[in-house]
Amino acid sequence: MRTFQQVSGLRVYLRGIRAEGKTIGFVPTMGALHDGHLSLMRRARNENDLVIASIFVNPTQFGAGEDFEKYPRDLNKDLQMTSLVGVDAIFSPSLEEVYPPTHRTFVEVEGIGETLEGKRRPGHFRGVATVVAKLLNMVQPDSAYFGQKDYQQFLVIERMARDLNLPMSIIMAPTMRESDGLAMSSRNAYLSPEQRKAATILHEVLLDAQRRVDEGETSAACLRSELEAKLAREPLAVPDYVAIGDPDTLDPLTTLEGRAAVVALAVCFGTTRLIDNAVIAPPGVTVPKMRVSKPQ
Ligand code: AMP
Repeated sequence: MRTFQQVSGLRVYLRGIRAEGKTIGFVPTMGALHDGHLSLMRRARNENDLVIASIFVNPTQFGAGEDFEKYPRDLNKDLQMTSLVGVDAIFSPSLEEVYPPTHRTFVEVEGIGETLEGKRRPGHFRGVATVVAKLLNMVQPDSAYFGQKDYQQFLVIERMARDLNLPMSIIMAPTMRESDGLAMSSRNAYLSPEQRKAATILHEVLLDAQRRVDEGETSAACLRSELEAKLAREPLAVPDYVAIGDPDTLDPLTTLEGRAAVVALAVCFGTTRLIDNAVIAPPGVTVPKMRVSKPQ
């Protein structure tokens, strides 16, 4: 497995790969890798001749008082894990390589970047869109892979890629979960044993949402209050939001009659804030398992 810290070296390497007519799959990450990240790399491995992953803890997507300094970092362990799933190259640039002192350009995605996480974490998606745009320009892959775990982030990146005419497919892959249903996340490491146990409530609430629409519930307001009531019964869970929205725009829905919806949750356990989501639909409405956005 090759490793690169500088864009210049990475470009020379990738130019050679492209000249051989090989396709490139790219998985951007912030490291502290788990099986969720690896599932994206396996998917990229299946669909491309070459797989490159980046490991970069992006400061511009962390707000003041968030966990940028204490975000878990273990490059050696990450390199071991990526080599086991057949990643060909890792790009792990320094802060200065990505944001030299002269850096002044940021990418802002209006609309989809302004609700839910965008509202609660001002500047977060501006940081995400900026770093992903930069990484996509550095790597210039054929396809880039993102997790459903960060559903709104995917929509922001998909919008950004189309609006900036970036010439690659943007692909969403399913959320990987622990055996008790908790979505894998680097931030799960912050949870105390009690909080870790309580955190399974997120997945339970999402399963309940699908069960209730299977039973015939179509009112988004009723569904939402039931889900909120369930969360309220877990004393360690402090809900931030329960949203039921359009899967493409996240606009709030009033009814689920004949249509799919995304249920998005943000819940705090002590100082750790977890998010999760599921796309649900009434009987007879199919939910696509994968989302692929191809360049025009
Ligand atoms: P991060 O390192 O948290 O920035 O995540 C890098 C990529 O991995 C993003 O596209 C995430 O959506 C994705 N990801 C994170 N957790 C999971 C998970 N549990 N299952 C699938 N993908 C995930």
